[in-house]
Amino acid sequence: MQPDYAAILQTIYAEVQPLLPQGKVASYIPELSKVSAQHFGMAVYCLDGSAYKIGDSQQKFSLQSVTKLFALALAFSREGDAIWERVGREPSGNPFNSLVQLEYERGKPRNPFINAGALVIADILSARFVQSDIAVQQFARIISGEPSIDFDIAVAQSERQTAHRNYAIAHLMKDFGNLHNPVKTVIDSYCRQCSLTMTCTELAMAGSFLANHGSVPWSGQQILDASSSKRLNALMLTCGTYDAAGDFAYRVGLPAKSGVGGGILALVPGELAVAVWSPGLDATGNSLAGTYALERFTTLTARSIF
Ligand code: GLU
Repeated sequence: MQPDYAAILQTIYAEVQPLLPQGKVASYIPELSKVSAQHFGMAVYCLDGSAYKIGDSQQKFSLQSVTKLFALALAFSREGDAIWERVGREPSGNPFNSLVQLEYERGKPRNPFINAGALVIADILSARFVQSDIAVQQFARIISGEPSIDFDIAVAQSERQTAHRNYAIAHLMKDFGNLHNPVKTVIDSYCRQCSLTMTCTELAMAGSFLANHGSVPWSGQQILDASSSKRLNALMLTCGTYDAAGDFAYRVGLPAKSGVGGGILALVPGELAVAVWSPGLDATGNSLAGTYALERFTTLTARSIF
């Protein structure tokens, strides 16, 4: 029997309120610090087409690292296993913007969800498309069914002006021969890609193909074959929530991808996609209230992969 999702979202909404002031909004991208930590939105999209939402679920927010999932899905759908020659599939156990492993692993990032890995994916897409960020935007429009998905240019500019660490990562990889396009091209595309915005409702819809064996539930469009979709789910579980992926699996038990904008997309394979947004982050960079909300969601619905 399907859980009463509407009632469960209401319970979660009430429970997270005291947590909202405890999170810390990301400030290293100055534009992101303008968002209030008080926001909370959540949306569920079930594969049978039913949908549920609560709170600020209709407000656009900065997807940031959640776009790494879309970029990876697009690159994987076009290049297949060739991408693994340039980026690994192991959790890094280091902060998402760390340079340390790159030096002794000769410029090959641990996984596509840390910044180094996402820059390599942007580089791979730049070889295929005139502009990789536009390709990711078009892809996001297709998988969400929402043709208005767009960049937040102020956020992209704000990140570009302060992207010293990402430049350092990109230059190091360039030195090792693992970046084929000019560093500036890749950074510019990456910053624009990260600035894409969506609402929770749109994000839940955008992720639903990954809960549905790679096929968009409402259109039947096969984005990835079932095997590739399974593999991306596995990467989300092991690497999708920064270096807290172990704790996230313990608490929530779902494949997920988070971003420093405070968004998290999580999947119940074969059943639904759920998106949550609350900009206040915990010490590991995941949305504090968002992680708690998903923990309660899997507890109250008895839906997890374990
Ligand atoms: N654009 C952000 C960065 O590169 C993304 C970080 C994130 O959401 O994890 O720092």
